[in-house]
Amino acid sequence: MASLYKMPISNLSGIGSKRAELFKKLGVTSVGELLNFYPRTYEDCSTVEKIDKLQYGGVNCIKAILGTPVSDSRISGGRLVSKASAYDDTGSIEIVFFNNKYISSMLKGGKEYYFYGRVTSGSFGPQMISPTFSPVSDGVKIHPVYRQTAGLVSRTISNAVKQALNLLPKNVNDPLPEQVRSIFDLCGLKQALNDIHFPKNREALNAARKRLVTEELVVLNLGMRNIRELSRTQSGIKISKSYSGEFENLLPFNLTNAQKRAINECINDITEKTSSMNRLVQGDVGSGKTAVAASVCYTVIKNGFQAAFMAPTEILANQHFQTFKDLLQNTDIKVALLTGSLKESEKKRIRQELADGQIDLVIGTHALITDKTEFKNLGIAVTDEQHRFGVAQRAKLLCKGENPHLLVMSATPIPRTLGLIIFGDLDISVIDELPPSRKPVKTVLMSSANRRRIYDFIKREIKSGRQAYIVCPLVEEGELDNIASAEEYAAELMLKEFADIPVGIVHGKMKACEKEDVMAKFEAGEYSILVATTVIEVGVDVPNSTVIVIENAERFGLSQLHQLRGRVGRGEYQSYCVLVSDSRNPNTVSRLEILCKTNDGFIIADEDLKMRGPGDFFGERQHGLPQMAIADFADTKSLELSQKIADYILFVYKDIRCDELRLLKAEIERLFERGGQNNLN
Ligand code: ADP
Ligand code: MG
Repeated sequence: MASLYKMPISNLSGIGSKRAELFKKLGVTSVGELLNFYPRTYEDCSTVEKIDKLQYGGVNCIKAILGTPVSDSRISGGRLVSKASAYDDTGSIEIVFFNNKYISSMLKGGKEYYFYGRVTSGSFGPQMISPTFSPVSDGVKIHPVYRQTAGLVSRTISNAVKQALNLLPKNVNDPLPEQVRSIFDLCGLKQALNDIHFPKNREALNAARKRLVTEELVVLNLGMRNIRELSRTQSGIKISKSYSGEFENLLPFNLTNAQKRAINECINDITEKTSSMNRLVQGDVGSGKTAVAASVCYTVIKNGFQAAFMAPTEILANQHFQTFKDLLQNTDIKVALLTGSLKESEKKRIRQELADGQIDLVIGTHALITDKTEFKNLGIAVTDEQHRFGVAQRAKLLCKGENPHLLVMSATPIPRTLGLIIFGDLDISVIDELPPSRKPVKTVLMSSANRRRIYDFIKREIKSGRQAYIVCPLVEEGELDNIASAEEYAAELMLKEFADIPVGIVHGKMKACEKEDVMAKFEAGEYSILVATTVIEVGVDVPNSTVIVIENAERFGLSQLHQLRGRVGRGEYQSYCVLVSDSRNPNTVSRLEILCKTNDGFIIADEDLKMRGPGDFFGERQHGLPQMAIADFADTKSLELSQKIADYILFVYKDIRCDELRLLKAEIERLFERGGQNNLN
């Protein structure tokens, strides 16, 4: 099998350089990759419909005899039309193809076929246009349907796959050792490959799928463990004394018990253990994760090392910078901000000071992990809103020091099974308590017909000194007519509804400095209302805000809405979240109602994952995991099974580099080559 990954796909008959280019578009360049290009779905003819029962518009499979040979004719524009009539014991149907000169030689009069396609109304009754078909005598009822690209249709791919399967040696070496397969009831690779493409029946398909999904997740599991092991070696950072008590005196509030516990766990990691800290602090929005990170950084800095704090957006980095600067103003700690939008000369100066060791604490965005940034003695790296950074980016930040400690913070509760894969045995501190005097945000779902009431409510809150957010999902004008555009909408609000109230706008197309300017004014209370797109999503902290109105709420994911809602309810005042949606789709409504019922981020994340799958849940590829060929991260059962198998494999074979796991190791390398790096040597 391994040699098939080296065999170019153009070795197959019927695939010249032109077709090979098209296959490349689908990510397939070798015969091996073609075998791993699994069907998108299947046309299942195990249940056939009688012709007299067909409904127009439905997609069906029929079993019918071709009554006449195919007749070709030309219509205007020179297009070729091939027509034939087929019948079963209840009626007849017209089969039509366009511009396919091979059809007449492929379909034979008098022979029985399965036809699969959409039924439309033709001039003489039911019609199927360009159905897929196969002779009943083949005995094959389930047909693969592949992802196609312009000029390369599923049938061509399927023919190529057939050839590729024939090239498999009689005994395919299996990456999963036989012992593992027999214990966990997994079929062999060769059978799995045959059956995933051309299953004889549903059972065979399910067995093939189980085997391939499991293998892929096992490979992912082992690969992730390996990455983590690399960062788990001895730490060069010796922290001898805790300064968390001293830090607490700098804070304007008392830490909650949950915050204290998290801080102690971190301090324990960095002072007592020989390997570097690898800890996730998970706490719902507003639970006070920043103070925890700040305390740990303080201790590390007081022990003579530098600290880096990476945030996913400039707004957030800026805000953290302000917080830290205020907090540390009467100390000898030097804090700096490093973001992409700084002037080049400014960046250069800060980088120089980091390399010299003049700066103790740097807050920044991705600018922190570019090659140009060097530290004198980085002792700890903190990443805020961890789920937005990929595994590779995290690793890059760690490379900036000699195995510095790592603290990742996240408000997005990652479902446990997926968390185990992403973080493995990363230690977790949970902040399960909100600062005192916080009241849960009250959430309501309203249609836009209630806008009058909503505006009046905002005005009342502003009158009593509070502030409000209004969130619209888009800045582009006219994407869809009914979608509010932030700027247009804000302009209207400013001029009409809130003419005597100061309104600020932030949106994704503004320059970073412009956004910061508006945010700073909102924070300072110069604006009472902030109209925003999702840029306010993560982390923004203005405790005086008590209302957030989210327009077109149906366009956001649940976790995203929960994050947005977390912008209010951060102070002592009762806060409100108004979800505005005119959607009547019952699924959408019940989705949004979940938010009205609970403030628990874990419940919401779970629901979100169930409904949308982790791709959307984390945003496009935000979980930082490699692209899967067949496995689905929402499939908890398979995730759990693969975890178990990975444990078993490491238990039995001890080391992934051993000879029995040679092929599995090659699979790990292949998977991570596609979406990240994993060096096993
Ligand atoms: P998140 O966990 O969402 O990052 P933050 O760290 O931004 O939350 O904290 C939210 C707000 O709560 C901030 O204004 C912060 O100053 C405040 N805060 C944090 N801890 C406490 C506490 N123990 N008591 C009172 N307020 C706190
Ligand atoms: Mg935060």
